[in-house]
Amino acid sequence: MSQIAKNLESVIERIAAAACRSGRKADDITLIAVTKTRSVDEIKQVIDCGITDIGENYVQEAEVKFSTIGEAVRWHMIGHLQRNKAKHAVELFSLIHSVDSEQLARELGRRAQAIGKTVDVLVEVNISGEETKFGVKPEQVMAFLESIADIQGIHVCGLMGMAPIVNNAEETRPYFAKLKELWDCLPEEHRIYLSMGMTQDFEVAIEEGSNMVRIGTAIFGPRE
Ligand SMILES: *Cc1c(COP(=O)(O)O)cnc(C)c1O
Repeated sequence: MSQIAKNLESVIERIAAAACRSGRKADDITLIAVTKTRSVDEIKQVIDCGITDIGENYVQEAEVKFSTIGEAVRWHMIGHLQRNKAKHAVELFSLIHSVDSEQLARELGRRAQAIGKTVDVLVEVNISGEETKFGVKPEQVMAFLESIADIQGIHVCGLMGMAPIVNNAEETRPYFAKLKELWDCLPEEHRIYLSMGMTQDFEVAIEEGSNMVRIGTAIFGPRE
């Protein structure tokens, strides 16, 4: 068994255990393998192991990989998205996790409608409060949803957030609890995905209600 296959097996076991602790099943949690900087060969390895969801941070990098791997998997845009990349993004991605401005939401809607599509998106929330991080402020999420409610061509399917980098995963718990609280207040049509948890903190995120985790390092090893 390859190292990647072993790592993946262990990640899946840890997801199942955390799901169980939060009264859910492993199947309730979508695992996105985060493949920024990873090769097509590495991506194929995880697909061979049953991975169905791939997360990328840059539109161009995703396009190159998509050209060989194609629609065998769902592609997720998890990185910051610039408006001038919206056209390519709606063509490629099944779910865009990083909607954080009305202008971006409008451009995505416009581009999606132009190709007769409705694109699924998440609103990125800046739960860490760090100035350098993207995302809508937690207290502005409801107003933000109202401001984009009229947009055709997008469907808001939930929220995405990132905890700050910490030494001990336990320190991320209040951030995830806060995002779950916000998610619980959303109208049902928007309460499909709660995307939170990465290598450092995915078990805590699941315990706090995440149903979608984005994991790179624990599967592929450290990035260069
Ligand atoms: C890179 C990245 C991840 C995965 O990070 P790891 O620590 O490698 O698991 C998850 N989410 C986002 C938004 C990322 O940019």
